[in-house]
Amino acid sequence: MLKLYNTLTRRLEPFTPLNPHKVGLYVCGPTVYDRAHLGNARPYTVFDVLVRLLRTTHEVTYVRNITDIDDKIINASLQTGESIETITRKTTVFFHEDMAALGNLPPTIEPKATGHINEMIEMIELLLQRGFAYAQDGHVLFHVPSFPNYGTLSGCKCEEIIAGARIEVAPYKKDPTDFVLWKPSTSEQPGWESPWGRGRPGWHIECSAMSFKHLGINFDIHGGGQDLIFPHHENEIAQSTAVYGIGTFARYWMHNGILLVNGEKMSKSLGNFITIQDLLSQARGEIIRFALLSTHYRQPLDWTNDTLMQAKASLNRLYTALEGFVGENLQQIDQDVLRALQDDLNTPLAIARLHELAREANKKEKGQAKEEIQARLKASAAFLGLLQCSSEAWFKSDCTQGLSSETIEELIMQRRVAREAKDFKKADQIRLNLEEKGILLLDSAEGTSWRRK
Ligand SMILES: [Zn+2]
Repeated sequence: MLKLYNTLTRRLEPFTPLNPHKVGLYVCGPTVYDRAHLGNARPYTVFDVLVRLLRTTHEVTYVRNITDIDDKIINASLQTGESIETITRKTTVFFHEDMAALGNLPPTIEPKATGHINEMIEMIELLLQRGFAYAQDGHVLFHVPSFPNYGTLSGCKCEEIIAGARIEVAPYKKDPTDFVLWKPSTSEQPGWESPWGRGRPGWHIECSAMSFKHLGINFDIHGGGQDLIFPHHENEIAQSTAVYGIGTFARYWMHNGILLVNGEKMSKSLGNFITIQDLLSQARGEIIRFALLSTHYRQPLDWTNDTLMQAKASLNRLYTALEGFVGENLQQIDQDVLRALQDDLNTPLAIARLHELAREANKKEKGQAKEEIQARLKASAAFLGLLQCSSEAWFKSDCTQGLSSETIEELIMQRRVAREAKDFKKADQIRLNLEEKGILLLDSAEGTSWRRK
């Protein structure tokens, strides 16, 4: 029986999905203006483990969006001179590369905000019709005092919010807590025609519209980092339940704890900002994944200078126990590992069990009994997205997740040269070779981008 901690009720609850065979899960995805950082990697790795676990018993629709319209993206474009399209396309590719390197499986659906503008406009119109929103100076705002249930997720009272808030007070707001659903765009800014003039959506309405489109009025789990509880998730709840009624929207809310770097909050101004790309230049993705899963997801994770070294030492021990193992039987997942995960995703306990299995394997002489334990260790670790290569390859450091980005870029260039020389046979061969290694090429008018399958 799976138990999950529900932020909404502040309790550990047995998980019972709406449909006994299916689970719908929405996780707030990245805003694609810059390289993903360690704080982003944590929720995506945590929810990847949840999806793997749910898939043992249910058909899972895992929706993780891409926010490709946001003021941060507009600012990045102004700063770098690159077009918004280039920034979002490039950053999305980087994000997919980072996720693949960390061993996170792709979501079932990855909706882009810019592909759902009509759905957002429709939802805003409903909020206006029902009296939860008002239009003012090209803006549309959600009127927080019109929604008495506001604050149930975060436990925030409106007065406290105002007192402690960095909430923008603006002349077009009736109340300081009101938040933007739609805002006007200048002619240089990206924008869409709407009943309120040319403009663009606020961030919160994006997730309400996309989760409704892909998971419906009611769905099972909504996840994200604790930093999203207020105001983002609170505002998502207000928007969606104002339209569809109290009791609709997500039933279980899951939030991972914050990420610290040497005991401090990670921020660009403190100079302790770590991107996944930085980490991948120091360690293999599996080591980073192991480190992320070594702390329970609801606890704060303090990333210190020793974290990667410790994770690597642990993985070395586990891989040592797999020495000589060539078996392919990956069916046998250890019941204690499963039980640990079913207890609100207790990954540290699951990892402790992997170490126990490793110790048992080490005690045995070469033979069938040893192989059985090794098979169980390998299968259980694989379930967590760990111990993905052979012991031999691991210790030879051969065990990268496919080709390096540089090699891929180089092959794409060779393919372009071949195409320009009308050598389509060679160009196709390069594409097929890459595809065999799990690299998909995407051709467009701007050139060729790629992603890992
Ligand atoms: Zn969201």
